[in-house]
Amino acid sequence: MGVRIGVLDLQGDVSEHIGAFRQALAEAGLLEGSDVITVRRAEQIPACDGLVIPGGESTTISKLIDKNRMRGPLEEFQGGIFATCAGLIVMAKDVPDPRVRSLGLLDIDVERNAFGRQKDSFEADLPIKGLDSPFHAVFIRAPVISRVGEGVEVLATVDGAPVAVRQGKHLGLSFHPELSGDTRVHRLFLSGL
Ligand code: GLN
Repeated sequence: MGVRIGVLDLQGDVSEHIGAFRQALAEAGLLEGSDVITVRRAEQIPACDGLVIPGGESTTISKLIDKNRMRGPLEEFQGGIFATCAGLIVMAKDVPDPRVRSLGLLDIDVERNAFGRQKDSFEADLPIKGLDSPFHAVFIRAPVISRVGEGVEVLATVDGAPVAVRQGKHLGLSFHPELSGDTRVHRLFLSGL
């Protein structure tokens, strides 16, 4: 049975996710009957099984969600959302930055650019719940999850701070799994749809 993955194409690293999901679907034996599409119009959202909100600039992405009238369809979306970096910020309940109007679809609070200047961008071999060996994770001006609600499972931490969470079908990540050439996190998401 195939799945349709839609990558929100408003701003950010869209093509990397398309490539990573195509590869992940092939590796999971799901490529036949599946497709990976770019989502530019609100009407495309309900027809997807999974949606990606990519990394980029959360202030811009949240503005473009409203400009393209996607807030309602995203709030009502029945599938899973794969949110990375800026996407994670956009999915949070509370973000202490008035320029981001987040969706509140993950019961977490998030601080933007929270690793500070010293650790602005870094890479780490990260143990992730559900994967049998560490994942080489790329962090770029990454957010940190500062509060985790009851229904949210923490899958990975850096210095004690959560950087990967799961809530129902949704996965939220501070890092960029699409840049590692390793599709295990994408496949983890597919297996939960
Ligand atoms: N710092 C960016 C923001 O706050 C996120 C960075 C990223 O997506 N790599 O939107």
